[in-house]
Amino acid sequence: MSDVIAVIGAGQMGNGIAHVCAAAGIPVTMIDVSAEALAKAKATIEKNFDRQIKKGAIDVAARDAALSKLSTSTDLGAVSTATVVIEAATENVQLKFKIFRELDQLSSVGAILATNTSSISITEIAAQTQRPELVIGMHFMNPVPVMQLIEIIRGLATSDATLAHTVALSKSLGKTPVEANDYPGFIANRVLLPMINEAVFCVMEGVGTPEAVDTVMKLGMNHPMGPLALADLIGLDTCLAILEVLHTGLGDSKYRPCPLLRKYVAAGWLGRKSGRGFYTY
Ligand code: NAD
Repeated sequence: MSDVIAVIGAGQMGNGIAHVCAAAGIPVTMIDVSAEALAKAKATIEKNFDRQIKKGAIDVAARDAALSKLSTSTDLGAVSTATVVIEAATENVQLKFKIFRELDQLSSVGAILATNTSSISITEIAAQTQRPELVIGMHFMNPVPVMQLIEIIRGLATSDATLAHTVALSKSLGKTPVEANDYPGFIANRVLLPMINEAVFCVMEGVGTPEAVDTVMKLGMNHPMGPLALADLIGLDTCLAILEVLHTGLGDSKYRPCPLLRKYVAAGWLGRKSGRGFYTY
């Protein structure tokens, strides 16, 4: 397979996706509306490759070969040469709809348009385009260079060929693809976010401090990371956005976002990316 990839959005997920594509020897362009986000993403990728060199996981030649595959642009038109576009912009329904309408115009005929959305309907995103058979969910986990899983989600119209290509691409990135159906939150976040939300309720109701909640889940349930530290890693704005999709999409009050989570997001306490969430960074 000789893919050329464009990644839309150079936030924490976008830079990780670009990292693994470049490491697999696939030409990849990161595209973001913010030049600052692109510069930060490139610096993060370089730092992460250097960390892998220190660990002995890769050598300098491999890093240089990977970095030679990576380019950046603030122009969405740079998708024109891509065979697969992976969208990883902010988790917002209207924003993703707008991006997919633009991608449909700007990308080449036959290019696959994948989205890394955590929760938004693939079928609805696909319906924004004239090529719904080429639209698919490709849900990477955070941090992308470390995590093994890619959740693959077919929309109602996604073709067998698009699915097969995406599964093969996921494997060529060294990942394990698992198929999920197109329901709010798919599998990963349908199961994870209610737990995170409940952990926030525990803090709000004074059942335990963030440290106590996380320690219980780490030592008691053998989770490598507590739910609140994980929420800070995901981004509290992203957690809130996913819960809103679960709540609206499934219509069950058990998915109502905790008021304390709303309050933190309103205050700009978004977790690691803003320096403060349930913990201070
Ligand atoms: P982030 O806030 O770190 O980055 C989002 C980036 O998108 C920003 O750099 C922003 O400038 C850019 N952006 C916004 N509008 C854009 C546009 N019109 N065109 C191009 N770029 C644009 O967010 P993130 O955590 O990287 O999440 C990105 C996507 O990945 C979301 O859909 C999220 O749900 C999903 N996701 C996140 C995680 C996680 O743990 N954070 C895990 C899996 C999937």
